[in-house]
Amino acid sequence: MKCEAREHEMAERITELDLRTNDKLYLVNNVKLEECRVCGERAIEPGISEHIFNMIKS
Ligand SMILES: [Zn+2]
Repeated sequence: MKCEAREHEMAERITELDLRTNDKLYLVNNVKLEECRVCGERAIEPGISEHIFNMIKS
């Protein structure tokens, strides 16, 4: 998977993610995402972001 600039290969990482929703800031640990080491751009798979949103809603 390439980043938005389409120049760099994104690498899979397990990391913590800051998520801002409804004026609240959540810190979610152990999120699997792809990150461009050059741009810092991050992409999360749709299934995983859905899982995170369900988690913080409960
Ligand atoms: Zn990039």
